[in-house]
This record gives sequence, C-alpha cells and structure tokens, in this order.
Amino acid sequence: MADALILGGGLAGGAAALLLARAGKSVCLVERETGPHHKICGEFLSIEAHSHLADLGIDAAALGAVPIDRVRLISGPVRIDAALPFTALGLSRHILDEVLLERAEAAGVTLERGVRVLEMVGTRVRTSLGERSAGTVLLATGKLPVREGGQERKEKDSDRYVGFKMHYRLSRPAQEQLAGVVQLTLFEGGYAGLQMIEGGCANLCLIVRRSRLSQIGRNWSDMQAMLASLPRGGEWLCEAEPLFAKPVTIGNLSYGMAPACRPDDPVFRLGDQAGMTASLTGDGMALALRSAFIAAECLLEGKDAAHYRQRHRAQTGRQLTRAMALQRVLEQPVLRTMGVGLLKMRPGLLTRFAQGTRLGAYPRLPERVMVAP
Ligand SMILES: Cc1cc2nc3c(=O)[nH]c(=O)nc-3n(C[C@H](O)[C@H](O)[C@H](O)COP(=O)(O)OP(=O)(O)OC[C@H]3O[C@@H](n4cnc5c(N)ncnc54)[C@H](O)[C@@H]3O)c2cc1C
Repeated sequence: MADALILGGGLAGGAAALLLARAGKSVCLVERETGPHHKICGEFLSIEAHSHLADLGIDAAALGAVPIDRVRLISGPVRIDAALPFTALGLSRHILDEVLLERAEAAGVTLERGVRVLEMVGTRVRTSLGERSAGTVLLATGKLPVREGGQERKEKDSDRYVGFKMHYRLSRPAQEQLAGVVQLTLFEGGYAGLQMIEGGCANLCLIVRRSRLSQIGRNWSDMQAMLASLPRGGEWLCEAEPLFAKPVTIGNLSYGMAPACRPDDPVFRLGDQAGMTASLTGDGMALALRSAFIAAECLLEGKDAAHYRQRHRAQTGRQLTRAMALQRVLEQPVLRTMGVGLLKMRPGLLTRFAQGTRLGAYPRLPERVMVAP
C-alpha cells in the first residue's frame, strides 16, 4: 500500500505527487485519461503559477510558453487596454500537465492511466479497476464532484456555467494584434478569454450560463457566430482556423469555495476540489499548485487533513473572495456597465484589479518541500 494515493493527474495531483515522491514517499496516482489531453482552461499562467512551476523545476518558457504583459477588456463597443502588473505566460495544458506527470513518474510515482475514480467512502476508493486504499488519499479530480458515500455533492447554483475551449491558428494580422495580450470579452451571460500559446496558436476559452447558452443556439457554430457578431472582440474569428474537430466542453461548473466537509474528513482535497476561483482572474492553476505545496508540506510534517484545510484556507481564502466578488459584479448588467465605464475613464484600475486578485506569495518553502530540478 502506498503512503499516498492521489486521485487525478492535473496540476494539483501531478505537483503533489512530484513533491511527495521527491521527499521519499511512495505515491500512486490514478488518472482517468490514457494520455495527453486538452482541458478547459484559458492557459494563462500567472506569475504565481509559473513561480510554483519553477519551484518544481519546470521552466514554462523552455516548454514554448509565450509572454503576456497586457490585458485587454472588451465589453460591447468599449475596449480598454492596460498593463498587467506582472509577466504571465501562455502555455497549453496539453503540454504542461504531461510534463508534470513525466517528472512525477521519473521521481518514482506509480502512475496508473486510464483508471477512473467511481466513488469514495472516506479513504476507500472504488475505481474502474477495483478498490484502492492508502495511508492518505488526496482528491485532485478537478472541476466536477466525485460521488462520495453514495451521494452526489449538492450544488448551490441551479443555473451553472458551461465551459468551452478551442485552439486556433490565426491570420498574421490577428496574431500581431494579440501578441503579449490576454483579451477578455464580456458578453451577456458569460465571458471569453483569448490569448496566444506555444507554436503560434491561440486559445479561446469561455464560460456561459446554461440559460443563456440555450438562447445562443445548439452548437459550437452558433457560439462562434455569437462571438463574431459582437461589436468588438470577435473580428479575428473570420480568418481563424480551428485546430480541434470539436471544442473541449464541460458542463455544470460551480464556482467558489467547495461545500464544507466534516471536521474529521480524512481526505486532502486539492485544486478545484477545494474551491474554484473565478476564471477571469487567471489564477486557478496557481491555486491548484499552491494546494499541492500546502498538502505536501502538511503530510511531511505529519499533519492531518483538518490542519491542511486550515492552512489552505488561510492562504487561498482572500484570492477566492475577491475573485468571486469581481465575477459577481461582472455578471450584473447594471454593475458591469458602471464598472466598464469607470475602467474606460481610468484604465490603470484594470492593472490594480489584476494585482488585487492575486494569490500572493508563498510563505517560505520548508526545506523538505523545496525540490531540486
Ligand atoms: C473556463 C475556465 C478558464 C480557466 N482559465 C484559467 C486560466 O487561464 N489560468 C488559470 O490559472 N486557471 C484557469 N482556470 C482554472 C484552472 O483550469 C483550474 O483551476 C486548474 O486546472 C485546477 O487544477 P486541478 O489539478 O485541480 O484540476 P484539473 O486540472 O482539472 O485536473 C484534474 C485531473 O483529474 C482527472 N480526473 C477527473 N475526474 C477523474 C476521475 N473520476 N477519475 C480519475 N481521474 C479523474 C482529469 O482527467 C484531470 O487530469 C480556468 C477554469 C475554467 C473553468
């Protein structure tokens, strides 16, 4: 039996596996996908995210990531450009998550691919290949709830978001327009992020309320047509070549802190399983990586899951609260119009918002969690 069983091989699971294996723990990680895959994500690596990757010995720039140092907000006919308070990077999850898993395997992690977690009862895990257990279970299966103790997690919000993502090859002028920029387009019922990633490609990732989606249409062509018809921000689409046969999609996204669990819950919940921050702040990957650092730190100090939850909340609560407040403002048409009007007059506020929704620096890394490349 392994010291730690990690469920899900995204950023949170991969990073926790790597940290624990490098510290000498035996780790088994189960991942439902059989190989590299695309995930719903804007692929915007904030300064905190790529700093955490550097702490893990992963140089995102060396993997082809492109620098992003400006933000462009589009709402109706209004376009606002401002500097980001840091240099972010654009890199696909297809590359990034795989590198992390490769490093974890090289550090001694037993990686079981193509194995799906079906249900958990405490630290007993039923998978598509039978039952698994371990001294410690870390749940890092991402955005959607896992069935626990015979029950689905109850969500507060009935009109949840649906997410879409597509990679494109852009025309030369469109590439030039987008170089170094993350473009956020607000529209009724949702928003879209567009930016360059490695290999001269662009990533479009958007969320839309389910109720609004049914008005827009039935398929991806209808969604693209809606974006192209916006007064600004959709011009690039007319000459863009989609690079997937169909978009990556996910339904029923539920943002905010995950519902509270029992105080004696023994499971370490990482990344999006601990809470999903508003996507437009581009800090979800940083939060996922941070949760892996905190979990590894706690486990190596012999602390339990309750202690982990406390430390996790202390470090991530502020980001989540601020990011969710911003998302709620943008969801209200009146507040959105007022906010955009204000930003138009004072674009520097956009830089301040980007700064104010950061995760913040990681308290000094304990010796054992700090890892050599
Ligand atoms: C629309 C949108 C845009 C976003 N844009 C950005 C952005 O630009 N920048 C940013 O920093 N963050 C962004 N995020 C947030 C970011 O994608 C997540 O916070 C981050 O991926 C969380 O990492 P994770 O490891 O918790 O989960 P994931 O990265 O989702 O990994 C979970 C893993 O678990 C596996 N898995 C799932 N279910 C099972 C199962 N039952 N059994 C076994 N394995 C399973 C999956 O295959 C996956 O590999 C965005 C989120 C959304 C919704």
